[in-house]
Amino acid sequence: MNLKELKLRLLCQGVRIDPRSGIDLGRSGGAGPFGQYVTIEDQVINAPIWGDAKNSPFTLTYEDGLKIVWNDESVETEIPDKPRFYDLQTSDGTPMKFIALRHAADVLASTVYQKCIYWAVSKQCKFCAIQFSLESGDTILLKTGEQLGEVALAAVKYGDASHVTLTTGTPNERDYGAGMLSEACAGIKAASPLKVHVQLSPPEDFGYLDELANAGVDTIGLHMESADPEVLRNVCPAKAEIGFKRYYDAVEYSIGLFGENQVSSFLLAGLGEDLRTFTDACERLSSLGAVTYIVPFRPLPNTPLSESRMPSHEYLHNIYAKCGSIMNDYGVRPSKSKAGCVRCGACSLIQDYVRGEKN
Ligand code: SF4
Repeated sequence: MNLKELKLRLLCQGVRIDPRSGIDLGRSGGAGPFGQYVTIEDQVINAPIWGDAKNSPFTLTYEDGLKIVWNDESVETEIPDKPRFYDLQTSDGTPMKFIALRHAADVLASTVYQKCIYWAVSKQCKFCAIQFSLESGDTILLKTGEQLGEVALAAVKYGDASHVTLTTGTPNERDYGAGMLSEACAGIKAASPLKVHVQLSPPEDFGYLDELANAGVDTIGLHMESADPEVLRNVCPAKAEIGFKRYYDAVEYSIGLFGENQVSSFLLAGLGEDLRTFTDACERLSSLGAVTYIVPFRPLPNTPLSESRMPSHEYLHNIYAKCGSIMNDYGVRPSKSKAGCVRCGACSLIQDYVRGEKN
């Protein structure tokens, strides 16, 4: 199996962790598609480990060194070292690992606001685990620009990070968190040279996107999650109420602020979507100069979708091949992204399917 196929299979089948390997399963709550990072031939892959991944044919084990084994095959792997800043505190005494985590090998990642108004009214996205790490005491509700600046400075000093991803729960339907993200970004920029990516739902008033640009944000993610209206209504009811039009308008507006390849939208594959809606959305985003960041759905513990199946690797390959070709036609270049998930690439294979990127 070549590396591209192995990465594809690991992203949608996950990996079982041999208890004898001594690997700590890490967090079981938080924002984003968390799992186990494994490095194979210098590529970091964020492999699912929960739910359906317990049936994976791949096992991470220790046999004369760390390996991933399946059938009668195996490959050597490594897991990224623990970042040095995890042992430090900010000047107000908060553990730095409560402020930000290190994703993959070099991404400083923080959920600036760890709650979401939709949870209180049962309208949260059904795959999301954002509030669980707050409930378990592993993080704090709101991270300030000053705290994030101190963590960024430490992460740069110890070589723990080279760019930043900031996400947020939705604190209100006015700015959707743009104010908090702007303050967070300004704090990081004042303290470090790191480029910053932010993720939020699009506010009605695009002046808030200007505010983000003025704070120094380099790249932005406006995540539709699914382009299939029925799936979106079922899985992300609050996002469905925003409507696709505002997403596309905000993407177009953001391209004017941040530039081509610096605006992205996550589309999850494997939620039961109609394939045509997927490729149509990719075409529309690509025509605007934005990156469609395709991520296979993964079940996270304690979420309404914790028992759902992950997509097959054949289905995922089909989507990547079709969307990679669309992005090629429009000249979209994920590798030009300056910061964030598209630059990181640990959760998606899109860079492997766009000509002139890795292949
Ligand atoms: S792609 Fe994004 S969510 Fe995934 S590991 Fe990288 S920074 Fe984190």
